[in-house]
Amino acid sequence: MLNSVELSARELGMVKLMADFFAENPELTAKIESYTTAHYALVTTYSENFGIPPEDAWKVLESMQKKIDEAEYVYVKAPEPLKKLLPLSRDELNMLRVLNDYFSENPKLAPAGSFLSNRTDALAEAYHWFYGSNGGGNGEVARETLKNLVEKLQTAIFINIETLTPVITTPNPYEAALKQLDIAAQKLNLNPGIHEILKRPMRAFIVNIPVVMDDGNIRVFTGYRVQYNDALGATKGGIRYHPELTLDEVTALAAWMTWKTAVTGLPLGGGKGGIRCNPKEMSKAELERLTRGYARAIAKFIGPFTDVPAPDVYTTAEMMAWIMDEYSEIIGYPVFGVVTGKPVNVGGSLGRNEATSRGVMYTVVEAAKNLDINLKGATVAVQGYGNVGYHAARLLHEIGCKIIAVSDSKGGVCNPEGLDPVKVLEHKDKTGSVVDYQESKFITNEQLLEMECDILVPAALENQVTETTATNIKAKVVAEGANGPVTPEADEILFKRGVFVIPDILANSGGVIVSYFEQVQNQMNYYWTEEEVRARLKDTITRAFNDVLSMSKQHNVNMRTAAYMLAVKRVADAMLARKGKAVSPIVTG
Ligand code: NAD
Repeated sequence: MLNSVELSARELGMVKLMADFFAENPELTAKIESYTTAHYALVTTYSENFGIPPEDAWKVLESMQKKIDEAEYVYVKAPEPLKKLLPLSRDELNMLRVLNDYFSENPKLAPAGSFLSNRTDALAEAYHWFYGSNGGGNGEVARETLKNLVEKLQTAIFINIETLTPVITTPNPYEAALKQLDIAAQKLNLNPGIHEILKRPMRAFIVNIPVVMDDGNIRVFTGYRVQYNDALGATKGGIRYHPELTLDEVTALAAWMTWKTAVTGLPLGGGKGGIRCNPKEMSKAELERLTRGYARAIAKFIGPFTDVPAPDVYTTAEMMAWIMDEYSEIIGYPVFGVVTGKPVNVGGSLGRNEATSRGVMYTVVEAAKNLDINLKGATVAVQGYGNVGYHAARLLHEIGCKIIAVSDSKGGVCNPEGLDPVKVLEHKDKTGSVVDYQESKFITNEQLLEMECDILVPAALENQVTETTATNIKAKVVAEGANGPVTPEADEILFKRGVFVIPDILANSGGVIVSYFEQVQNQMNYYWTEEEVRARLKDTITRAFNDVLSMSKQHNVNMRTAAYMLAVKRVADAMLARKGKAVSPIVTG
């Protein structure tokens, strides 16, 4: 199937520079005599222009060339006032391949030694040899094609490529999900038949969504929906918009949702979805058409009793309202329960906004009880000051903790006497960062992670606590607000050093718990007060925490392995209870 791939900003810069060598760019032309090959000229100039080491420039060139070699179609976005996505003609794409070859380390098409002689003639000649006159190939046409191509590349805002080559990300998150399942399966002595089933999703859909863009062109976006396992109930999981999204990533996320809903004891399975698109490049109207198109494409396979999506990276409450509306139009009456994370005035739940962080706070309270830490005055450092980080800092402050450091992508601030989370947020809203907050000292994100404190809440990105940082962590408790902030190697080190890690599938499960409450309220068509939502969240997540803690003590494993064991066991038991030998003929007794 065709996959859509964008050139990164750096790769786009490289293509433009290639084009510059063929435009009458006096600066480059004057310098050109000092280089021996086109490859060397391009890499060196790029490295100087962008201030990066030549070996990094070489990597950018290599990845860009690979994408162009594998391209079936290439689209170039023109700047204002046109701002259209223009397809390269077959001739232009062929010429781009010749250009690509010309700048490669070992050119195969361009004649040797052509660099110092007339570059345009050399390119036209190579084009003529390889694509012949059928490709529009006498010297005149080739020169004209090159001129048009160079013009398009020089002005391009971005370049989109359609390729038949399967897209993969490294490391592949599905591989990680399989490894975690293997560990839990081994510890549980899991039935091999069940293990086989749990390695794969129950169902996966690929949909192609045509969208009329603001410029009048049609673009087709690829979307996915994976329903991993529904042994415990309807599948549930967010929708992610990302330019590099792959089916394997969505599958891994759907597996993790299966374990997250199971560990918290919700009567739900796990799913996930998403669209390979760059929402930052799209207007709101385009995003609405895309979201509604996706809703129509998957409408037959979702529903309040089958599969219930929610927001995830780069999707919002407003988008959930569009999906709900589109689905309701198809069904014929308002079906609020088809998605969660909606605005409160169209079936959203009170308390959903802060739910993830409130869950983090409740799990910290339980961990503190278990470790005999007095939270009154306990010191807390929070990495990331977005939705999860800010509310976690605020709620922990409200129960008496002292927030001594917080950070965002620009750096962190620290004050051993304590920070006021609300005032820090006001400062961030005004200036765009927590940095430079009054009465505080600047610290880096690394310093924040390694601070002397009782509780560390990583609430930004994955892979923040690594093998190197793990040995320097001084916190007694690490509560994973973010997904995957501690690497598996770091996890082992922390466990051996006696640091108590509350794993992501438990610590940040408050979001999906309140999403479940939203479903319940939608089905009853009766809505709870915020206090009721909070009380039920506390009850659910506290019970989950204590179930995981018992499992961890019983098997002498860390909290993460215990959480996976508990989740996999609950799903496996449900599969066996529902289907018995039909699901696993190996089962005896
Ligand atoms: P967000 O975009 O609102 O906030 C992210 C914050 O991290 C921002 O303050 C950003 O500046 C900061 N950040 C980015 N790079 C950083 C870096 N290198 N160092 C320090 N800070 C950095 O996102 P969010 O909704 O708060 O989500 C944060 C994490 O929590 C993600 O891993 C997400 O998957 C996970 N999560 C969120 C929810 C939820 O309900 N929002 C639920 C479960 C898990």
